[in-house]
Amino acid sequence: MPFGVHPNLLRKPHMPLIESIDVAAVTVPLDVVTSFSTRTVSERHYCLVKVRSTEGVEGIGFCYVGSAAGAIAKVAVEQLLAPHLLGRESRLSEGLWQTMYQESVLQGRSGAVMRALSILDTAIWDLNARSSKLPLHHYLGAMVDDKVPAYASGGYYVDGKTAAMLGDEMEGYAREGFTAVKMKTGRLSPREEEERVRAAREAIGPDVLLMLDANNAWRDLPTAMEYVRRFEQHEPYWIEEPFSPDAIDLHARLAQSTPITVATGEIEVGRWRFRELIDAGGAEILQTDAAVCGGISEWRRIAAHADSRGVTVCPHWFHDLHAPLVAATPNARFVEYFADDQVLNFRRLIDRQLSLDRGDVVLHREPGLGFNFDEAAIAKYAGAAKAWTTVRR
Ligand SMILES: [Mg+2]
Repeated sequence: MPFGVHPNLLRKPHMPLIESIDVAAVTVPLDVVTSFSTRTVSERHYCLVKVRSTEGVEGIGFCYVGSAAGAIAKVAVEQLLAPHLLGRESRLSEGLWQTMYQESVLQGRSGAVMRALSILDTAIWDLNARSSKLPLHHYLGAMVDDKVPAYASGGYYVDGKTAAMLGDEMEGYAREGFTAVKMKTGRLSPREEEERVRAAREAIGPDVLLMLDANNAWRDLPTAMEYVRRFEQHEPYWIEEPFSPDAIDLHARLAQSTPITVATGEIEVGRWRFRELIDAGGAEILQTDAAVCGGISEWRRIAAHADSRGVTVCPHWFHDLHAPLVAATPNARFVEYFADDQVLNFRRLIDRQLSLDRGDVVLHREPGLGFNFDEAAIAKYAGAAKAWTTVRR
């Protein structure tokens, strides 16, 4: 024993072990079939996990897998990743991440397997925060403690919805107090899309930020410019996901060709790809999603790198998950907020909603993420099958 050190200081502190992991795949239909530029969605598939410690504390994680085949992520949790977490100390989250990442490299460093890794990592952070009896933003080390700014996200394509109706929707968000609103673009002709953007801008006035989300609409720069050139006079704050996430070079060329800020990253994963995107000049705003990119651990690494390059993070949807992260990140600005459960219907699966204060999301005071799954809703949306599968040693 080193001289002068009390023996209790050398004893390894008690740490909870991961005892079991529950995983479920649920399908939540949309009330109204809804479209964006390149896709039409009638239902959303989510993968959910609960990670339970030997102290009886549970952390939760969740992701959107897509509009079909949500079971892919469930299989990845159940068969590929969860078995490597059982019996391990939950507070060694960096080591657990490395173990899961190593397991993922053959079967998917992006997509459903990385989403499975992301939700397990999120659940481990949630579990550790709950074990420490701290709200997640306190556990992470917060910048602010009361609320974080949100932008209202909407402006989807629904049959029969006119540009004037879109303008009314956007004006409604501004009237509720949002200082930033977002709408979809890229589905119709350049002329029709300009009419929609004009209607939105005229409805919200000159001072509210207007974001445009193209959801990978365009294949080349000339096509993108047919649209973007028309949008410029309406002063949008950003143009989001103009191209496929793999077209980093095109993002950079668009950024050089228009004064509108390029934003992207909601379906990108890993610090290495985000570094490539930033280095190429492909985005000044990152929309990194913790349920996609590699969990809370990876989200923080990506945000820190972005900060070193003067790039801001405005995370993609799931404001319940991202509000604590934005609160704890100096270069994060907005969470994305959906006013109802029509497009992002995940909120039907949980037992508590965060409240709004005008255009801000109010941070909660409960341990961890501060909400739980609504088990009755999950049983309903899991269909005929037993909702949860338990993985234990
Ligand atoms: Mg988007």
